[in-house]
Amino acid sequence: MKVVRGGMLFNVSQLLKEPTGFARAYTDDEVRPLNEAGHEVRIVGEVQMLRTDKGIWVEAKLIGGMTCSCSLCLMEFDQPIEVHIQEEFLPQVDINTGARVNHAGEQDEDFYISRNHILDLTDAARQYFDINAPMRPVCTEQCKGICLVCGVNRNEGECACQENQIDPRWSALVGLTAARTPDAN
Ligand SMILES: [Zn+2]
Ligand SMILES: [Zn+2]
Repeated sequence: MKVVRGGMLFNVSQLLKEPTGFARAYTDDEVRPLNEAGHEVRIVGEVQMLRTDKGIWVEAKLIGGMTCSCSLCLMEFDQPIEVHIQEEFLPQVDINTGARVNHAGEQDEDFYISRNHILDLTDAARQYFDINAPMRPVCTEQCKGICLVCGVNRNEGECACQENQIDPRWSALVGLTAARTPDAN
């Protein structure tokens, strides 16, 4: 079986001829581009395929670097995302007879092997990476974000306005402290 360059395509014609329970594994260090919404996702990982009675069960552990915008400082950075794909792919034609396979009760979300026996992991990977992408990506745990007053990226330098500004969420607490202080005496 061969990994076709430039995509996540696996020719599974040999595996489809194997008996149920037959497994193949791939370790692929090859960097693969996958374009999603203009972002390039570089993917490496391990792919295991198991012949089932209906098709091929795929288990893939993939790590992709997704370009994200930091939700605090807005800078773009490479966010590593790990996904664990578990999906069954169903053939559209019978490998031995070439006859069309009818999948009773088939659903839109099912994955299919192409008529020329190419199993394309691209759509599945895209769905899993989308689901696992962080809702609020942060470039580093130490990210200071941007100054809400002047817009300066505070990772790159402090601004003058910062000292005088109090986050409105804290101002109520500051007022509380000030009100209590005279009571101390
Ligand atoms: Zn940041
Ligand atoms: Zn500022």
